Amino acid sequence: MHQAKKKYGQNFLRDTNLLKKIVNQAQIKDKNVLEIGPGLGALTQFLVHDSKKYLAYEIDTSLMDTLKPFESDTSRFIFEDFMETDLSFMENYFKGEDIHLVGNLPYYITTPIIFKFLEIKALKTATIMVQKEVGDRMVSKQNVKSYNAFSAILQYFTKVTLEVSVNRKMFHPVPNVDSSVIRLEKIDRNLDEELEKKFIELTKIVFQHKRKTVLNNLSTGYLVDKSEIMKVLHQNGMDEFTRAESLTIEQLIELTKTWMRK
Ligand code: SAM
Repeated sequence: MHQAKKKYGQNFLRDTNLLKKIVNQAQIKDKNVLEIGPGLGALTQFLVHDSKKYLAYEIDTSLMDTLKPFESDTSRFIFEDFMETDLSFMENYFKGEDIHLVGNLPYYITTPIIFKFLEIKALKTATIMVQKEVGDRMVSKQNVKSYNAFSAILQYFTKVTLEVSVNRKMFHPVPNVDSSVIRLEKIDRNLDEELEKKFIELTKIVFQHKRKTVLNNLSTGYLVDKSEIMKVLHQNGMDEFTRAESLTIEQLIELTKTWMRK
């Protein structure tokens, strides 16, 4: 019997219906799949069966024997920390083709994994288990309390959908929080890199102090005179009372474009 290791964020799933639901939402039939943290193989059994080619990274070497039966010509396991590993193996293994990430991730690496997912071009979708509060932030739209810079930046790069809400009791051992399965699908907005970089920077600044207006956040963030900022806001149909949480991604993109022209 495997003893769950807290330091690796090990909370295992067993419910077959839930596992099938997650695999179904991932839409990976005959596609290349990367799983992070296969654990005891709960999702693995379905992913290996449905995928075209499968690769997993698992940090816990004591799971080698448990996962061995899933190994085949088209399914491989690497026992390394995904955050530290050299990803050239993955690139060669999948021969530059599109890859779909699936993972019941340990909560402490959710954010770095999401940023890695955004960074690696070959990764097209990610179906991941996250802490409920993080999931709420990921999907929230303007005028919702949990909407923040992270929501806006993520929704700039991906279409985000909440697929399944998962009660903590579905895990063994039971963690302190409930979870959500979130699916991210990359969007190609066809905008240049300079604009993307500026969009991220400006979004972080306008959301910096939640109680402050866009005007005040821009003025303290960029040290620009308020009268100049007002001109930009007016060009975008905004005023001195506009707050970041009321802005859609499209409005933030337009604001960035005008800001860059000023
Ligand atoms: N997928 C299994 C399931 O659904 O039952 C296990 C999920 S458990 C929440 C997270 C898994 O990720 C564990 O097996 C843990 O050892 C592994 N893990 C933790 N940190 C990791 C890392 N940095 N790289 C790769 N695997 C990691």
